[in-house]
Amino acid sequence: MNVDLHCHSTASDGALPPREVVSRAARQGVELLALTDHDQLGGLAEAREAARRAGIAFVDGVEVSVSWRSVTLHVVGLGVDPQNDALQTGLQHVRSGRIERAREMGRGLREAGIAGTFEGAMALADNPVMVSRTHFARHLAQRGVVAAAKDAFRDYLVPGKPGYVPHRWAQLAEAIRWILDAGGRAVLAHPGRYRLSAGAMSHLMEEFRGAGGRGIEVVTGSHSPDQYALFGALALQHGLAASRGSDFHGPGEGAELGGLPDMDGRLQAIWTGWGV
Ligand code: AMP
Ligand code: MN
Ligand code: MN
Ligand code: MN
Repeated sequence: MNVDLHCHSTASDGALPPREVVSRAARQGVELLALTDHDQLGGLAEAREAARRAGIAFVDGVEVSVSWRSVTLHVVGLGVDPQNDALQTGLQHVRSGRIERAREMGRGLREAGIAGTFEGAMALADNPVMVSRTHFARHLAQRGVVAAAKDAFRDYLVPGKPGYVPHRWAQLAEAIRWILDAGGRAVLAHPGRYRLSAGAMSHLMEEFRGAGGRGIEVVTGSHSPDQYALFGALALQHGLAASRGSDFHGPGEGAELGGLPDMDGRLQAIWTGWGV
């Protein structure tokens, strides 16, 4: 089955509205889809309805921003109830502060000689409270400051660069608690993206599982084939299920919906019991 349990719409930093993400997924052959916008449930109703029309199975999802030790982690919640109070209130707290952070990013870039980026990023953010580094990256690319949006994550928007502003997100245990409270399964997103030693990664997996985390992403847009193998092995070692998701943000930006290889059949699929 073609399963894609991680993607974004204009409800956060995706380029397409929820209904277009779903119709595109259906065209790409996806049979079970989760929309997982950052810290935001606002796109789910539209996506669910579009999935019904397109005849594909759909799971309500979210991707929660978490601060753990000195790094930012993402935890995907799958099968969550979008009406759940604990989840809604928690996410509202995580969202607050994004606009102020964006203003500070704009100030930093202006001091580096690039004026007007706060306004430019806000103009690209369909949902202003969800303004993110992605919107700054797209703006910098459109202006020709960088050749492509991804280059902004090398030159401007990462620690040590003028457009980076550290931010305090949710705690790991509370993010997992909100997801469980909402009836969902918590999945550690794209573990290969975190700059952690093998020891720290192992601690993270233990802490994640101890707090009620259920799985990790193994096949995801930002992992290499070597990392599919590495994180597949870690999932087995730590007794965690495995997930597959493109982390699609828009056409021509990173991985395509449903376009990744199948997961190793020896892994326990996080989507057991869902879909067809
Ligand atoms: P924020 O939540 O505002 O810190 O923005 C994080 C978002 O930036 C992620 O969800 C990705 O969409 C994007 N992002 C982070 N790092 C990179 C990268 N190296 N290349 C492309 N996009 C990235
Ligand atoms: Mn994103
Ligand atoms: Mn992420
Ligand atoms: Mn994502």
